Amino acid sequence: MKVELKLLPAEKRGRLTNQSNLPFGRIFTDHMFYMFYREGEGWQGACIKPYEPICLDPAAVVFHYSQTIFEGLKAYYGVDGRIRLFRPERNMARLNRSARRMCMPEVDEDFVLQALKQLVYVEREWVPKEKGSALYIRPLMMGTEAFLGVKPSAEYIFFIILSPVGAYYKEGFNPIKIYVTDKYVRAAPGGVGDVKTGGNYAASLMASEEAKKLVYTQVLWLDAVERRYVEEVGTMNIFFYFEDELATPALTGTILPGITRESVIQMARDWGLRVSERRISIEEVLSSAESGRLKECFGTGTAAVISPVGWLAYKGREYVINQGQTGPLARKLFEELTGIQYGSRPDPYGWIQFVP
Ligand SMILES: *Cc1c(COP(=O)(O)O)cnc(C)c1O
Repeated sequence: MKVELKLLPAEKRGRLTNQSNLPFGRIFTDHMFYMFYREGEGWQGACIKPYEPICLDPAAVVFHYSQTIFEGLKAYYGVDGRIRLFRPERNMARLNRSARRMCMPEVDEDFVLQALKQLVYVEREWVPKEKGSALYIRPLMMGTEAFLGVKPSAEYIFFIILSPVGAYYKEGFNPIKIYVTDKYVRAAPGGVGDVKTGGNYAASLMASEEAKKLVYTQVLWLDAVERRYVEEVGTMNIFFYFEDELATPALTGTILPGITRESVIQMARDWGLRVSERRISIEEVLSSAESGRLKECFGTGTAAVISPVGWLAYKGREYVINQGQTGPLARKLFEELTGIQYGSRPDPYGWIQFVP
């Protein structure tokens, strides 16, 4: 399959104005990648075309039963002026893993990655140049067949849109406050907690709205069975640095397998840290916070890279971690990962792919 180019003439294209105050996910570039699928025919019609609304039948499967998956990654404007992607092949692999779980058709990973790079290249003027800013890339697939029965859709669309985003840490690399909920759960064993599918995020809204009212930034989820073991936080995986061990919950099917998580585990092991993927109870976390055995806590994800956690609230009590300060391990991981992403540090793992 070839990607057909239907590009806007130069005078009809927008421009990135006011680079220093980019909100998250509200500005979109001029073009999008698009293709569609029909059972028995496969993927077809691949094109890069002007960004435009999508017209769907009101009976489309996605509106009623949420058969939809997405991905999230970024293109970085490097210190040498070259545009970099961070482990995009991992996002393509996860997209297909999500597709299988949601009974959706897989895509050709190499083809979609090439198309993604082509789109970013077409929109290269939209990649913000300020430190910490990036071009957020959102691939998405949904079932579009017009049919009210509950079964996998026979038709799908897949698209990629791009959004220039500002630096996550505008006011410094400061710890956030997290609310540990024992009232709501995010994902149950056997469910779709390890899939980037829309419904997971709709289901999480009420818990995070309640946490925000209490001025906490995000929710830390506990396991659905015992409401005891830590899972993840908002749209980030979570790490605890106990004394001489960096621990993170194991991927048991209810946690999203983050690419930042995977990268942090690998780097920390190479730095000689003992890293474990295991069950971590909330009692262990809180008693360690009190005794000082818990030296640091941080979230990991594409948006923030590393997000230090300074406070945890649980059952009406607040626990402080590292006196509410960013710890040296979180800082080192942040500097190393962003250094690789923006090309100011070497890329010993071959994690970077260039555009074009
Ligand atoms: C996307 C996501 C993450 C982080 O994944 P990255 O690949 O590191 O960006 C973690 N948890 C949830 C629920 C997510 O949706």
